[in-house]
Amino acid sequence: MKINEMYNSKKPVVSFEVFPPKKEADVQGIYDTLEQLGNLHPDFMSVTYSAGGSGGSQITLDIASLIKEKYGTECLPHLTCINSTADEVQKIVEEIRMRGIENIMALRGDLIGDSTGAGEFKYAKELISNIRKDCPDMCIGAAAYAEGHVDCESLDLSVEYLKQKVDAGANFLVTQLFFDNRSFYEFYEKAIKSGIKIPISAGIMPILSKSQIQKMIFMCGVSLPSEIVKILYKYENNIDDLKKAAMDYSANQINDLISHGVDGVHIYTMNRPEIARENVLRMKNYNGANI
Ligand code: FAD
Repeated sequence: MKINEMYNSKKPVVSFEVFPPKKEADVQGIYDTLEQLGNLHPDFMSVTYSAGGSGGSQITLDIASLIKEKYGTECLPHLTCINSTADEVQKIVEEIRMRGIENIMALRGDLIGDSTGAGEFKYAKELISNIRKDCPDMCIGAAAYAEGHVDCESLDLSVEYLKQKVDAGANFLVTQLFFDNRSFYEFYEKAIKSGIKIPISAGIMPILSKSQIQKMIFMCGVSLPSEIVKILYKYENNIDDLKKAAMDYSANQINDLISHGVDGVHIYTMNRPEIARENVLRMKNYNGANI
């Protein structure tokens, strides 16, 4: 099923993100993870793609197919373009289509080391219009940034570039993680004002530890509300209480978004089913059956 159609029939659309195992030895672990996540009945699961280029595509596609065929959940393979040629990208899109997958998350990705990229794609909007041209029926997702992309000088400019991705053919958007809902509401208002009319899922990453948060705020350029700083300070030496307080924070964050009528909630599961479970069990009106 095409993901954009899901937003017409339910609110919020609930989705999970997983990443492929880093080593072959961890493959069994991903099966267990997918099974447990599948039992929570999300509307779809997305699978990240290594920005390293064509070498990373096979494992992403294999996991996406597994999600769809074995666990019966709709899948969303990610695809990045900055380090790939147009030919390589075209082959991967064709394989996605041949596998009967109807959705792609189209991303630019980040440059690797000192590389300047494969040269043919500079921005995600070019990948989006290429996919739209070759596969007019494909449902295309694109990345949004509630606080603006880390390399972009302002939120207004970030929204302007986002609109270009929508005009290139994106059907729905998923945001990067954010911890302060006020930034999402401000972004959403700007997106609507700019003429963006497609659904936007809010990306939520539950907090696990101080080091994880430090890494994320630096990598993604997101702000940290004082409530989280206080949690990290108070429970610095008590990991169990830290996790409990952090879980309360993300559950409250999600329920506040739902109260504000958000189109979708996308949980960055970090391949930790217990984190996703805890959050969906506490989600207002969650209708996943038998969990
Ligand atoms: P773009 O939309 O092309 O933006 C890239 C930069 O260019 C931004 O700074 C933007 O402001 C700027 N820009 C855009 N258009 C223009 C223009 N016309 N003129 C000037 N500047 C412009 N990375 C991975 O490697 N693998 C993944 O699987 C992955 N999954 C992700 C999933 C989600 C939901 C999100 C939010 C991000 C994900 N990323 C992933 C990270 C993403 O690849 C990086 O954030 C990347 O730096 C930007 O990708 P993009 O598709 O948003 O690029």
